[in-house]
Amino acid sequence: MFIEIHKLELNPIDFEEEIRPGVVDLGPDLRQVSALQTAGRAQLVEEHRGKRQTVKDIRLNGDLTTTLELACARCLDPVVQNVARKFDLLYRPLGADAGPEERSVAVAETEVSYYQGEGLLLEDALREQVLLAVPLKVICREDCRGLCPHCGKNLNAERCSCAEPVEDPRWSALKDIRGKLDH
Ligand SMILES: [Zn+2]
Ligand SMILES: [Zn+2]
Repeated sequence: MFIEIHKLELNPIDFEEEIRPGVVDLGPDLRQVSALQTAGRAQLVEEHRGKRQTVKDIRLNGDLTTTLELACARCLDPVVQNVARKFDLLYRPLGADAGPEERSVAVAETEVSYYQGEGLLLEDALREQVLLAVPLKVICREDCRGLCPHCGKNLNAERCSCAEPVEDPRWSALKDIRGKLDH
């Protein structure tokens, strides 16, 4: 859905969208497994800078929910994760903050992004919000045993015959000391 600045000049736009998997490109590590539900409002915010200049910003607020599948950080098995996020964003025209005098107008800005041309593609904004909502690391279960660092077998599913982990370095340090004392 393309949010046109010219339409926002007339009225705010309320949206309610259901976006099927594949439409929003989330990259190779995330798979969207259910429709992304989003609802919210886009509206024009006019910033007056000095006497003559008016900057037309787009304020986008709403929420989203979806379900994603990503790899367990330990064993790489797929983990299904529900994602929900509320957002309240301000988009400025690209270049609006480029001039030297504009830069001093930096208000307490939390989440300011930029739009280019005639408006903003809602899907682009949602993509960013989904990526921000995904936890950095998920594990499939608390006691996931992960992959064997030697042979790569999934230790949740099978045992391998690789050597047990080498002895604790603290013990070998003790052995060294003992060795020295013996002499
Ligand atoms: Zn796992
Ligand atoms: Zn192994």
